Amino acid sequence: MRRMGDRMKIYNTLTKKKEEFVPIEPGKVRMYVCGPTVYNLIHIGNARPMIVFDTVRRYMEHKGYVVNYVSNFTDVDDKIIKKAAEEGVKASEISERYIAECKKDMQALNVRPATTHPLATREIAGMEEMIGTLIEKGHAYVAADGTVYFRVNSFPEYGKLSHKNLDELEGGKRSLLVSGMDQKEDPLDFVLWKPKKEGEPFWESPWCDGRPGWHIECSVMSKRYLGDEIDIHAGGEDLIFPHHENEIAQSEAANGKTFARYWMHNAFLNIDNRKMSKSAGNFFTVRDILQKYDPMVLRFFMLSAHYRSPLNFSAELMEAAANGLDRIRTAVSNLHFMIQNAKENELNDAEKALLDQAKEFSEKFDAAMEDDFNTADAISAVFELVKFVNTNASAERSRAFLQALLEEILALSDICGLIVEKEEALLDTDIENLIAERQAARKEKNFARADEIRRELLEKGILLEDTREGVKWKRV
Ligand code: AMP
Ligand code: ZN
Repeated sequence: MRRMGDRMKIYNTLTKKKEEFVPIEPGKVRMYVCGPTVYNLIHIGNARPMIVFDTVRRYMEHKGYVVNYVSNFTDVDDKIIKKAAEEGVKASEISERYIAECKKDMQALNVRPATTHPLATREIAGMEEMIGTLIEKGHAYVAADGTVYFRVNSFPEYGKLSHKNLDELEGGKRSLLVSGMDQKEDPLDFVLWKPKKEGEPFWESPWCDGRPGWHIECSVMSKRYLGDEIDIHAGGEDLIFPHHENEIAQSEAANGKTFARYWMHNAFLNIDNRKMSKSAGNFFTVRDILQKYDPMVLRFFMLSAHYRSPLNFSAELMEAAANGLDRIRTAVSNLHFMIQNAKENELNDAEKALLDQAKEFSEKFDAAMEDDFNTADAISAVFELVKFVNTNASAERSRAFLQALLEEILALSDICGLIVEKEEALLDTDIENLIAERQAARKEKNFARADEIRRELLEKGILLEDTREGVKWKRV
């Protein structure tokens, strides 16, 4: 019999089916996740794809795949330009500020940095090249004012991802053409390059001074860092149309190859059953939430639902997440305590049998994850393991037995990116003592030790400042 969990299934938006995952190159995964437009602090809706796809990546790595994970920042956009004008600063100042803030939030949520985080503004040459190819191949045209449009009817497969009927799409937009408001050949055509407006950032191009459209960015960054064909392309479900549909049209028309094999989309994080969004104003930033909750509670909450199910944010569900996380943490700290006090080292036969039983929880966990990353069921398997630990771990058990259970819980938590072991926070008195030790070392001209203490403290998030009034410290 085949062991559970050695075939990964992914729901593919393109085929509307769960499919077995077969990578282009054995043992390797090329994955692109559309990142945020950076003009504000990210909200917890934006954090959903970050957490979900970070977990997908962690699981794949756990299975032995080498994952090349690319996620962009859209750092040129109308909203960024508007915010810059409001503040009277350059657009780049806004985008740099919010990229830095976004990275802080990601770190707090234990979302690992991508292999590459490309920035749209650094990839303009590649965009001009792809737009040039599309024009050459008859897939794009230049309007009188220098705007470049993609010619949708040159790509017969348009609509294949969103399963939209082209006639319906056309009908909705025809009125624009009739009114003469549009310079497009067809209402469905979309912008690849647009002319600059006064005071906006721009780049020179063969068509006009201007800037790229949003969709071309991702086609180009994906090609540059992952190649013409990739395994997984992902993002929130609002991106299916038009963003991802347009990315497919651009990439496949330009490269002549299938762009992405598997398209994964997370459902929305809602509030009062409505999509959380910046424009609707019904949002909480990650920063707001972290004022009240441990970041791991937010991560746990996100993973407590399957990524394709809508998830409604509520204080009750956050409370449930906090309790769930606490159950795991309590089991972990009990195990630590018992390990320290264990009398026997070696496993006995009864314990060996119990550990075999405990392995079933890891198998269950894997089976849930292999079934289109069902983190809700995977977390249930972790709870079963916790229950098993609570029943079977005791002061009489051997150290090896307790250690094996601890490692199993920690391994599963780690795949979810949940930090369940808290590093002991440095107490103020510990800090003061170390500072006193550093002062003493300096007096004795033992500068090596003094520097070492400074570094140690910094690693634990404590910054020392030598001032005229003495040494000051702050948490950073
Ligand atoms: P944006 O900055 O709006 O382009 O969004 C960045 C990412 O967050 C995209 O993958 C969006 O689909 C996703 N996203 C935005 N709002 C939500 C939400 N309420 N729930 C889940 N995902 C969202
Ligand atoms: Zn994108």
